[in-house]
Amino acid sequence: MQRIVKIAIVTCMAFFLCFCAENPVTKTRELMFFSEKDEVALGKGLDNDVRKEYGVYDDIGVTNYVQKVGKKVARVSHRSNLDFHFSVVDMDEVNAFALPGGYIYVTRGLLCYLNNEAQLAGVIGHEIGHVSYRHSMKALQANIGTNILLNIIAMGTGSQFWAQVSDMMLGAIMAGYSRTYENQADELAVDYMLKAHYDPYQMRDFLYSLKRMEEGSVGFLLGIFASHPLTEERIKNVQNVIKQNINDYRDKALKIDEENFLHIIDGMPLEKEKGWIKDKNELKNGKVGMAVPLRRGLIIEKGENPDELILFDRYQNYVIGVTPLKGRVAQQEAIEEFEKKKSLQKKIYFGLYEDAQNTTLCIYRLNGSDLKVVFINMFPHLLAVSFIEKASSRGELVWKEIIKKARKLDAEEMVKVAPGRIKVYEVEKKQTLKELLKSLYKDEKTIKKISVMNGLQEDYVLEPGKQIKLIITEEDSHLLNKLEH
Ligand SMILES: [Zn+2]
Repeated sequence: MQRIVKIAIVTCMAFFLCFCAENPVTKTRELMFFSEKDEVALGKGLDNDVRKEYGVYDDIGVTNYVQKVGKKVARVSHRSNLDFHFSVVDMDEVNAFALPGGYIYVTRGLLCYLNNEAQLAGVIGHEIGHVSYRHSMKALQANIGTNILLNIIAMGTGSQFWAQVSDMMLGAIMAGYSRTYENQADELAVDYMLKAHYDPYQMRDFLYSLKRMEEGSVGFLLGIFASHPLTEERIKNVQNVIKQNINDYRDKALKIDEENFLHIIDGMPLEKEKGWIKDKNELKNGKVGMAVPLRRGLIIEKGENPDELILFDRYQNYVIGVTPLKGRVAQQEAIEEFEKKKSLQKKIYFGLYEDAQNTTLCIYRLNGSDLKVVFINMFPHLLAVSFIEKASSRGELVWKEIIKKARKLDAEEMVKVAPGRIKVYEVEKKQTLKELLKSLYKDEKTIKKISVMNGLQEDYVLEPGKQIKLIITEEDSHLLNKLEH
């Protein structure tokens, strides 16, 4: 941040008598301590923080698509001169936000709840709207206070202060802006959608979905979307602005583009991988479909990969490793791969474990001790349960209990612990959304959630060929079979 301070000081000193700048939207002069250069530098620094803190959703197809739509909207905005950046952050929450200088983010959770390209353009348009008005910079000025700002400029306060300022700013942005700022951003969203030839009514329709999410506590809402009483007002405002402007675009084809959008988000997870989850007296992993018993007093840590568990007692007399191995390969191959990864070279025993057909015991010499590993066949995966002892302990009993009680999760349990994914389904016969969903899901909450996710009422009549989003878990073949017939 040091550099930003210097830039800020130099620029501000130059205009010491007037900290003014022209508002890019209204073209009026307003109090602004920061130049566009400062703004971009501040955004760039914060961008690093956001990426580290929240993580980026790693899917090049989705990222490219969001960037393409974002650039289309940015091009028609009031600050098309800025170098805009668009990213998808890997958060379950439904949110979008903008940093100063043109850094725009949508969450993976938000993409799951959008239904077409026009809605995505609307959300991005809203965020670009905040950038156009320089809302984040104004909020920063208001938060710090003019007097302190003048002091910083006069005294050249150190980088630590600026690190704090950055934190404050990120917090303020994530929490959302005032009613006036939100309405201004919505108005620009409609303006940009029209200029980029998107149907602005999709913006209003997504606000309706948000309202249903608020009412039904469906999905996680953050930031601008968490501002409950505002949504109704925002819908009215957006509707008015559309009415005032849409006539100018009467002879233009305003696009929605549902098919392409749904294709892009098909398969997207609604939740982050959870790894192992405690449930009663077991640890369950939805990704590999396994459960192992959980004993009181054991210390549990994550291993080298998120699906590996390391268990030990508080004296660390013994260590037990629980490692799911990639299935759908020959058992021998999976074992060899495990040995290679763990650098196990001296195998001194290989045979069945307690004469059980689907378990193999291998013993390795490791740093003067014996490492015992039992490989349990849990089709389609394999589970390696290893045990090594430093001092005499009851660890071997715990190890044996895990081997005995490790089990596969059934379909019903899987649904509870595996991350749900979007599955785009083409309707085959005419029926209401509720009829279709009831044939697939028992849980009322899931049915409600999927209705909101599709922006449709439950009594909406689906015509054959209509594409809708469903939620499935990775290994939920049961549900897929129902769909295919
Ligand atoms: Zn906003």
